[in-house]
Amino acid sequence: MTIKRALVCGAGGFIGSHLVRRLKRDGFWVRGVDLKTPEFAASEADEFVVGDLGEARVCREAIDDGLNEVYQLAADMGGAGYVFTGENDAAIMHNSALINLNVLETCRAGGAATIFYSSSACIYPQENQASADEPVTAEDSAYPANPDSEYGWEKLFSERLFASYARNYGMRVRIARFHNVFGEEGTWMGGREKAPAALCRKVAMAPRDGEIEIWGDGGQTRSFLYIDECLDGVRRLVDSSFQGPVNIGSAEMVSIDQLARMVMDIAGKPLRLRHVKGPLGVRGRRSDNRLIAKRLAWAPCQPLSVGLEKTYRWIERQVQQRAQSADPGAATPLHA
Ligand code: NAD
Repeated sequence: MTIKRALVCGAGGFIGSHLVRRLKRDGFWVRGVDLKTPEFAASEADEFVVGDLGEARVCREAIDDGLNEVYQLAADMGGAGYVFTGENDAAIMHNSALINLNVLETCRAGGAATIFYSSSACIYPQENQASADEPVTAEDSAYPANPDSEYGWEKLFSERLFASYARNYGMRVRIARFHNVFGEEGTWMGGREKAPAALCRKVAMAPRDGEIEIWGDGGQTRSFLYIDECLDGVRRLVDSSFQGPVNIGSAEMVSIDQLARMVMDIAGKPLRLRHVKGPLGVRGRRSDNRLIAKRLAWAPCQPLSVGLEKTYRWIERQVQQRAQSADPGAATPLHA
């Protein structure tokens, strides 16, 4: 039996490093490529190229014609504190567009069989997400386009880029729009972390009778998908005949205050919430899973609390280890 070969672009990042593990478990030979190797555990990839996918030379080194599947996850990326302040807009658009242009063109020249692209819920029009209760994220509501961040606009451009290559060059492309993926071994400090990791860190660090800061009034809503379920959705999409774009997310919507309380329950710490100004994004967002249920007969089924418990325990250990270590990195700001 021939072993299938896969490339994971962004294999040093959160989702990419988990995807490498998943593909190995599924019997693939895997090459990873990223600016860096994974931060929290050694990569399980058979080969790992450290390099900048914005450079055509690195793309040629990583992409060869023997690849059955290419997963393009590399992006200039972060949570609200990175994406919504406006300070990183030019870098986000330039870096991510360049990666996508280079990876796709090299795949075309090299004849890779299937290419998966990770887009984002951030492509949806902001006016459809002005309500915390009834956000609209059906896939066909993406146009007329009006994302609330340059990160979202770049994702939309790149979705169209991948779809154009499929149309014009007959490439087998699959596109997913991820909605807030979280889990162990994700960024939990430093400014690029997302809400679940940031709240787990704040709760783990707070004294028992203390308080934690919440950006905004805490009434903004989101849905969060545990990493293993995200990868189930990705693998199912790649194996299917459906090109997408399709949402891969959870339909369980919570407010940020509710999320904070869930973390406090897990930790057994009833802390006070202090609401402060901060970058927020849209008022409400939840994955609309009707299309993925119809086309792939799939939906995540695990409640948010299950993945959150695992994530909290992992972040709690990181906080404890950091406090005990004399690592000079301990001077790095933890960020709000
Ligand atoms: P991440 O930041 O952990 O991983 C992205 C990786 O890309 C990083 O390891 C980074 O070093 C790498 N990278 C950046 N620029 C590069 C370059 N020029 N060359 C090579 N590698 C480069 O992010 P993640 O959470 O794992 O997200 C993976 C993908 O999924 C991204 O495309 C992201 O936009 C998308 N996405 C993620 C979420 C989420 O909730 N995590 C939601 C929507 C979309």
